[in-house]
This record gives sequence, structure tokens and C-alpha cells, in this order.
Amino acid sequence: MSIANVIGVPTGVITGPDVKKLFDYAKKHHFAIPAVNCTSSSTVNACLEAARDANSPIIVQVSNGGCQFYAGKGLKNTDQKAAILGAIAAGLHVRATAKHYGIPVVLHSDHCAKKLLGWFDGMVKADEEYYAKHGEPLYSSHMLDLSEESHKENIDICVHYLKRLTKVNGFLEMELGITGGEEDGVDNSNVDTSKFYTQPDEVWAVYEALAAVSPNFTIASAFGNVHGVYKPGNVKLQPENLGLAQKYIANKLGLPAGSQPVSFVFHGGSGSEKDKIQIALQNGVVKMNIDTDTQWAYWNGVRKFESKNRAFMQGQIGNPKGADKPNKKFYDPRAWVRKGEESFKERLHEAYTDLNSKGVLGGKAKL
Ligand SMILES: [Zn+2]
Repeated sequence: MSIANVIGVPTGVITGPDVKKLFDYAKKHHFAIPAVNCTSSSTVNACLEAARDANSPIIVQVSNGGCQFYAGKGLKNTDQKAAILGAIAAGLHVRATAKHYGIPVVLHSDHCAKKLLGWFDGMVKADEEYYAKHGEPLYSSHMLDLSEESHKENIDICVHYLKRLTKVNGFLEMELGITGGEEDGVDNSNVDTSKFYTQPDEVWAVYEALAAVSPNFTIASAFGNVHGVYKPGNVKLQPENLGLAQKYIANKLGLPAGSQPVSFVFHGGSGSEKDKIQIALQNGVVKMNIDTDTQWAYWNGVRKFESKNRAFMQGQIGNPKGADKPNKKFYDPRAWVRKGEESFKERLHEAYTDLNSKGVLGGKAKL
């Protein structure tokens, strides 16, 4: 299946200018693509299946901890070795399967703080090796999160890596300001709240420095977002701030009013109010991360299955139908893991609806 006439990008893992083309199309049509954290082949497959049935692109992303898990918790992570191996294993799995689902897939790595740069270097090295053989990087894009460092150091390190990624047609996501809550062991619950709202001039400084290297970057600019699902607290989502930054930068660049030069990323999408998501989409958000809600959905599918079939899942043999009846068809992982996948898929369809991206590849969405 070709979707060339809709967005003009191929199916399977896309890279470089195709990622830019997809994001520009999303921005123009005010939709975003869900970026879903995956930790196993099961969750990757559920993502691809959900995207195929929604007739929409998807961003499969892996965190540092997710990569370690993908490689296997039994492996030591000395010098980020397991995290690098897991990133490669997940990347190869996605590359082997994605094109058969007939949808474009952005393969992406999530938050990388300064202390995890060894992981980043390992992934970029894998991109370079893959590029030498196939003419494109293993991953479509990677995220750097130097938001804990000074503004200058954040920009300098991002420029350094964008230069390196550009040589292999890579794409960079960077973070500005701080996303509240906790992710991968970095706890931001006690940070000064002004850091949760990035100012337009800070976004401009990043845009100016990165655009000088390549157009292939996105900015995860903080607008009061929080990782995880929490009760509303002092920090409020203000996606209008993204519009202010677009206006400021368009003005600096001498672009016509209403231009949206920046492609923004929405972190901490789980549990966000639907109307705030819509405002974010109007202001140039092209990617929204979702993790906590899909984690819950996966577990909830397994939980419901176990709860319904509990009497059949207490031993290999013996259930209410007879003391010698076998229970294999209940405890076989393909039975209950599949229920997790189905529930995960359903939650993703809700995300596609929230992000205006259901059916954007043309044709009818099945769900
Ligand atoms: Zn995040």
C-alpha cells in the first residue's frame, strides 16, 4: 500500500526529510501523531496494529529503561551496554515488521539526560553503521533532554549531536524547560514552577541555533506539562504559550502572520484535558507522548482476563469444569498477553481521536 498521494512518504520506518514532511503535514492539518513508549515486542506489535487499523502513522519510542528491559533485565548495564543493545534489538524488530503493516512509522528514542549520553552515543553509532549499509539511520530520530543543564550547554550539546545526526539523515528532538513529575528516575516534583513554562525568546535561541545546522528537529517546550497521571496541582497546562512562541519566531524570521515555524512535542500527554490537547494542536504540536495511559491499558486487559477466568488459572490442571481439565489455553502467555495488547490498542484509538489523526492516511479507519 502506498500513501504517496496523501502525505508523500513511504510505509515502514521513515527517516530524514520524510519525517519532516510528515510533521509539516501534521502541523498544517492540526493533528499530532501519538508517540508510544514500548518496552517489548508485544507492545511494539500492538502499536503497529493500532496504527494500521486507525489508518494513521505512529511513533514507536523507547526510553533508556525501556531499552534495558527490551534487552533483558538479566543483562548488566555497565556503560549503558544493555540500553544500547535493547535500542538496537527494538529498532531491528520495528524495522523487520513495520512495513508489513502498511503505515509510516517514526522510530524514536525518548529522554536522554547528560548522564545517559553514553547510551545516546551508542545509538548514534548504530545509526552510523546502519547508514553505511543501507543509506539511512537505524532510528528515525532521538531525543536529548539537557533541560537540567544551563540554557547555553543545552543548546551547545544539541547542536553538536544534530551535526552528527545530519550526516546520517537523522532527526533530533530537544527539551526546553522542565516537564514535571517523574520519568526514568529523574524526579522533578520539587522544581521551581517557572521552569515549567518556557519563554518565547528561549525557544527562539534554540530554533536559531539548530535551524542553522538542519531543519530536522523538534522542540519539546514546557508549557506546564507533567509526566504521569496526577491530580491537578499548582501547575496548569498552558498550550497557548506555544502559539506565543510561534508568533515571536515567525516575527524574527519575517514570516507572514499565522506562520508556525516550530514543530512542537507534547510530553506528559497521559491524563491531559482534551480541550488543552486541541489548543496544543492548533499551536503546532505534531507529536504527543503517551506512556502511563497505555501502561494502564495493557495491565487492565490482563487484569480483566485474569479476573474473569480466575478459576481456570490456579493450576495447570483442574477447574470448575472438572478436576482433570487442563488450563493451558488460559495460562498460555499468548492468551493473556494478547488481552493486554487488545486493551493497549483500544487506548491508542482514543489517542488518535484526541489528536485528530484517525484515518489521516486516507481511506476508512477500522476502529
Ligand atoms: Zn517526556
